[in-house]
Amino acid sequence: MALGNPMVVKNSSIPATISPAAAGPGQTLDEDKRALGWTHTARFRTTASQLDQLPQTELPEIAFVGRSNAGKSTAINTLTQQKRLAFASKTPGRTQHINLFDLGPKLAADALFADLPGYGYAAVARGAKLRWQQVMADYLAVRRSLVGLVLMIDSRLGFTELDHRLLSFVAPRVGNGSVKLLVLLTKSDKLNRTEASAALAQAQAVLGALATDEADVGVSLFSALKKSGVGDAARVLYGWVHP
Ligand code: GDP
Repeated sequence: MALGNPMVVKNSSIPATISPAAAGPGQTLDEDKRALGWTHTARFRTTASQLDQLPQTELPEIAFVGRSNAGKSTAINTLTQQKRLAFASKTPGRTQHINLFDLGPKLAADALFADLPGYGYAAVARGAKLRWQQVMADYLAVRRSLVGLVLMIDSRLGFTELDHRLLSFVAPRVGNGSVKLLVLLTKSDKLNRTEASAALAQAQAVLGALATDEADVGVSLFSALKKSGVGDAARVLYGWVHP
């Protein structure tokens, strides 16, 4: 897989076109451009506070999840090269909503991004937390069009209990290969080289538990500030829906 410094924990279906072994540096740049051109087409489609309000669609859907403050909105805005695309999810009253974005040609969308509610915010009441858990568990279990999950983990904090819980919700579908997983270790600009290697190793150890012959799991350092890992991540997402 053409991730720069990232590692692939287990990967059985990444097409050869995005493999660094198959592509020279020039080709990788072209692929970055194509993938980033595609992510840039993202535009708001709808917002839903309940799963049954989500449109039933055949379009492949990629969901973005993470703890509050993990850098999810910033990562979405950076990947799509738009300043405020993921801003809606921060609007008070909308923080518990699922926001959907169309991607691809204007009249022929070919995928959706789903920005799922951030979790773990201390001030949220217990009832709201339990409700969140139910919504996430249901979404990850039953959303048929879900093809991939991007999990944002603050590279300085690593996986928290709620991150582990989230992974357990989706583990069956990752295990059977129906949902692919990319973990972005965010804010990697705050780490030195040693810390960055340690963060990657820790993530790989956690994700190793999900590895099966069918599973497609990757992890990558990511910095919106330094724009590092952005083209790599875009290429992976592009590959998920354009195999
Ligand atoms: P969300 O709650 O997961 O959507 O997180 P945000 O995208 O709002 O980011 C949380 C905080 O982390 C904000 O203060 C961001 O400016 C900061 N942040 C996000 N990405 C980066 C990054 O790549 N580098 C650094 N240094 N800070 C970041």
